[in-house]
Amino acid sequence: MPKFSAILLSGGIGSRFGSHIPKQYQMLNGKPVALHSLELFLKLECFEEIVIVCDPYYQNLFSSYSVKFALPGKRRQDSLESGFNALNSRVDFIVSHDMARPLVSENALLKLIKEGIKTPAATLGKKIPFTIKKASPASIVEKTLQRELIWEIQTPQLIQSDVLSEGFTLAKKHNLTLTDDVSLAEILDKKVTLIENLAPNPKVTTPDDLKYVSYLMQNQSLS
Ligand code: C5P
Repeated sequence: MPKFSAILLSGGIGSRFGSHIPKQYQMLNGKPVALHSLELFLKLECFEEIVIVCDPYYQNLFSSYSVKFALPGKRRQDSLESGFNALNSRVDFIVSHDMARPLVSENALLKLIKEGIKTPAATLGKKIPFTIKKASPASIVEKTLQRELIWEIQTPQLIQSDVLSEGFTLAKKHNLTLTDDVSLAEILDKKVTLIENLAPNPKVTTPDDLKYVSYLMQNQSLS
């Protein structure tokens, strides 16, 4: 069985949330958003190390858990690299996750790990149920995309350690800014598998998202 470590990203300032407390530290059903996914990662007991990338001001929130810390970078990929550099043991795969996604389920995380290791990288995602059009900067439609082939991407994502490391080097060489972690495999032309996750796994971005996630969580615990 390959070895895994996890990098949990919590270093964003969440400017779109409109609060001095970043979204991942807002209270959600009795505990900060970030602790919901952390507790799932710890429960699985399949990670050699878990690194939380966060501002040192918030480290005490995690003081009762066995985790390591890394400082956030300017962009998401800089935070991921900082987390990667904080790992001590060599592992085959890194699992990265946005701590602003508190609802990710045990089944989804296990499916990612089980099926994802067949290719250099993999991510959870969902086919979109709506129409997407590509537009010009002047908002004129250029193309309607074939929706059966369009996926909304979630986290966690899985990527081979060596691929991640090479991806960081190439992204720096060409000054690329990427919006998710498996893009670091894509720029190296490595295969990335999409793993369907139909369970809700939204990212908390606005106060309304927080209400929605809270509602979903309460309903899950009733069912
Ligand atoms: O800003 P966005 O919602 O895309 O952030 C996704 C995740 O990445 C969040 O959990 C956020 O805290 C984290 N992040 C980070 N470092 C950054 C930017 C975002 O750890 N520089």
